[in-house]
Amino acid sequence: MQNDIENIRLAADILKNGGLVAFPTETVYGLGANALDSEAVKKIFIAKGRPQDNPLIVHIDSVEMMMPLVKGFDERAKALAERFWPGPLTIIMERSEAVPDTVSAGLSTVAIRMPSDEIARALISKAGIPVSAPSANLSGSPSPTSAKHVIDDLSGRVDMILNSHNCTVGVESTVISLAGEKPRLLRPGFVTVEELSEVIGEIEIDKAVYESISNDTVVNAPGMKYKHYAPKAKVVVIKSNFEKYKEFLSQNADEKTVAMCFAGEGKALSLPFVEFGEENNSKQQAIMLFDALRKVDELGAKTVYVRCPDCKGVGLAVTNRLFKAAGFEVIEL
Ligand code: AMP
Ligand code: MG
Repeated sequence: MQNDIENIRLAADILKNGGLVAFPTETVYGLGANALDSEAVKKIFIAKGRPQDNPLIVHIDSVEMMMPLVKGFDERAKALAERFWPGPLTIIMERSEAVPDTVSAGLSTVAIRMPSDEIARALISKAGIPVSAPSANLSGSPSPTSAKHVIDDLSGRVDMILNSHNCTVGVESTVISLAGEKPRLLRPGFVTVEELSEVIGEIEIDKAVYESISNDTVVNAPGMKYKHYAPKAKVVVIKSNFEKYKEFLSQNADEKTVAMCFAGEGKALSLPFVEFGEENNSKQQAIMLFDALRKVDELGAKTVYVRCPDCKGVGLAVTNRLFKAAGFEVIEL
């Protein structure tokens, strides 16, 4: 912890001086900059190669830190914050003039999250400023759930990488918009639709969660339209039971094919494989998913056939990331 404290102090100074710091959160590693400094925020887009029209999430350590950034904090937002903050939930609200256009990509809204990760919280508090941070990976590649993933993608492109623990959630935050009339889920995550509904009632699910979207469509969460989370290998999701999956592989795999399957299944297959958690454990799949997608590339795969997870609860987040990695190429057997 002594090391951590010293590094957090250094990192906070870098943020205050307009630099970029990669840091752990409970969801994935984030690439942070001072959210109130437009020039600093621009550096995030350059370091990641992120499209300019994809807005960033602003990370805060307290509701007090958030208040100057939003126009209002209504009863629904308060109820969600009380139940799920600090934690992996991002709330979209109308923004104030204090939020630079670069953060919100010109939208009238801002995305806010209070992370629960101790290092993330300590860093934001030490810096004393809201920190805008997307995932700390190169745009389009699988999100980083370990310091190694960040180093692989961003070494030399950022001012500091806080080399710390692996992420405990493993998929990005749930994003809910309260900017329209009805609450709308823009991105599924660890906080499930069922849990959100318990607090604020009915929630519309944005069609971007399920569907492929062409790159020139106007969408509610701009980030959802890009091909995302993808390894270099071509990803195809196979919706079937294990027997049919195995049979499909025996007919379609070549020497450049890798199987991505559930724990304990790989040994029954006759090709290289990466496992990503137990079949009935969505939370474990979430933790292992992005690391598995990166391992597929390390094995030199041209094509990876992935077992399709169950899409209930946290499984909706896992399935959503996989469908996006596959560009929505799904084969149902
Ligand atoms: P990332 O930073 O890579 O985790 O992505 C953040 C996600 O939140 C993307 O899908 C963004 O499009 C979405 N997002 C951020 N700010 C807003 C906003 N103001 N309105 C709608 N979606 C947003
Ligand atoms: Mg991202």
